[in-house]
Amino acid sequence: SKEIRLKSRPVGLPTADNFELASVDLPAPGPGEVQVRNLFMSVDPYMRGRMYDRPSYVPPFQIGQALQGGAIGTVVASNDPSLKEGDLVQSMFGWREAFNAPASALQKSDAHGLPPQALLGVAGMPGMTAYAGLLRIAALKEGDVVFVSAAAGAVGSVVCQIAKLKGHTVIGSAGGAEKCAFLKEIGVDHVIDYKATKDLTAALMEAAPKGIDVYFENVGGEHLEAAINAARPFARFALCGMISQYNETGEPKGPSNIIQAVGKSLRLEGFIVSNHYDMLPDFLRDMSAWIASGQMKWKDTVDEGIAAAPGAFIKLFKGENLGKMLVRLS
Ligand code: NDP
Repeated sequence: SKEIRLKSRPVGLPTADNFELASVDLPAPGPGEVQVRNLFMSVDPYMRGRMYDRPSYVPPFQIGQALQGGAIGTVVASNDPSLKEGDLVQSMFGWREAFNAPASALQKSDAHGLPPQALLGVAGMPGMTAYAGLLRIAALKEGDVVFVSAAAGAVGSVVCQIAKLKGHTVIGSAGGAEKCAFLKEIGVDHVIDYKATKDLTAALMEAAPKGIDVYFENVGGEHLEAAINAARPFARFALCGMISQYNETGEPKGPSNIIQAVGKSLRLEGFIVSNHYDMLPDFLRDMSAWIASGQMKWKDTVDEGIAAAPGAFIKLFKGENLGKMLVRLS
């Protein structure tokens, strides 16, 4: 079985050289263990943070060891009564074709008729991030005008659609014509192709002449500055991620206009989805209903095979994914 290990810590944008493809022999699973063949693994922006050797809310990846991340697979051999061959399981043992693990480290899953990889995207962690960030952190309320960055991505596209389902005016920013067309398709009211825009604040003010009430932050840098400029008094910012800064080697680009947060009484609140899983039952109930009624759409970008995983990860930082970036492993 093959796996991807961290070979060296990236400086700036990761490159293929930072990763190594290795082979491992998998023995039969020991007592209490099962063997899983992964169907899909997820690549996510937060993994970049784990490549730095510094304390964070998740520990750093170790050089020479297999990377970790969300994956969905099927049990191919079981030495534990709680799981049997053929069971679908979710785990954090991505970046490898197959693995042995204690049954207790796996989550038995049911895709409820969805393609199983949806459990890594719209119906999984990214969808849950959108739900918790918008409804709890941004505390979405009637009449809010909502601005979303990285709007055509896994998290952003769900944020846009939840806000539309709840009757809001939504402004989405994304890079490139294909992504902007997708945003129109899912009902986003005003689409900003930030790569074709010189003045993001002006574009945002044109889309929202009275300003924005909620900003769902995925990007940081210029996007955050524009959102502060366009914020109405008492606007709430859900700080979900700042991907434009993850590979920064110089000074991080802070918002130079943060002083406006005082006069406008802004609330800027960061969050990590793992602290909000008490909302999971609500999320699953609402998301299944939205998917079943055809009101929630999603796109996947799928690369093939374990060797493609580093490249798939790097695509996230080049904006080469539309919707959820995944790697199919078998
Ligand atoms: P996406 O599917 O949105 O993929 C990343 C996208 O980010 C790219 O497609 C690209 O879109 C955009 N991007 C990359 N680099 C830049 C840049 N320099 N400037 C502007 N946009 C850029 O990823 P996810 O949906 O998985 O994650 C979105 C955000 O949510 C990330 O910031 C991530 O860290 C965060 N996140 C936070 C969680 C939490 O618990 N707080 C949980 C999950 C995700 P484009 O082509 O439009 O530029």
